[in-house]
Amino acid sequence: MAAATEDKALLVSGRAMRSIAQYRAKVLADLNKKMSRCKQGSRQWKKYKQARNRIRQKSKNQLEALEHKTTKEIVSFLEEERITHFVIGNVSGIEKKTKKDPKKKRKHNKTRRQQLSLWNQGKIKQKLTYKAQQKGIKVEETEESYTSQSCPFCGGKHQAKGRRFICSVHQTEIHRDVNGAQNIARKKHPMAVKTLISVVYKQPIWYKRFLSLEKKQEIQRIS
Ligand SMILES: [Zn+2]
Repeated sequence: MAAATEDKALLVSGRAMRSIAQYRAKVLADLNKKMSRCKQGSRQWKKYKQARNRIRQKSKNQLEALEHKTTKEIVSFLEEERITHFVIGNVSGIEKKTKKDPKKKRKHNKTRRQQLSLWNQGKIKQKLTYKAQQKGIKVEETEESYTSQSCPFCGGKHQAKGRRFICSVHQTEIHRDVNGAQNIARKKHPMAVKTLISVVYKQPIWYKRFLSLEKKQEIQRIS
């Protein structure tokens, strides 16, 4: 998740959230496969079903906690920077536009699978909105079409290479997500273009140890 003013940015990693979502998907797929091999309603089938409910509930709680942590980080940044107007990009707007082109749709779906579901994004947006409003910050929403390609330096359009967005005209560079966040704000308010932007990277919590521990427990329970 990225938040940016004209010369400062905060990037909070979604790595922990992604790994939880991926782990959940994997375990649930395994359990469904195992259940399909059992007689429905049998003791073993019920055992798997319980495990499925457990993993669903647990990952839901973990994601919820991470959503709170992440949005809290963002709103603290807004407060520190004394932000009065906060613009959030609306992802669903993009989806509607790309649906007509089957090639684009496939590509879009592929990237979406690797990211969090739209449902999670909706929940995150909700948390961001109420936390910001609690601090007296005005929250606005806008669709985010072209915000990732628009070049602040020349006004043209370029594709980002990895995390770097490079202007082919001026050879200036900006972090892809910082540029995207700033361009979202520019849809509603004027924002100066600066070449020097201080970027802070944060990781809400790292669940790796916790996850590997959990995997072991889950495997023991299931087998
Ligand atoms: Zn350019």
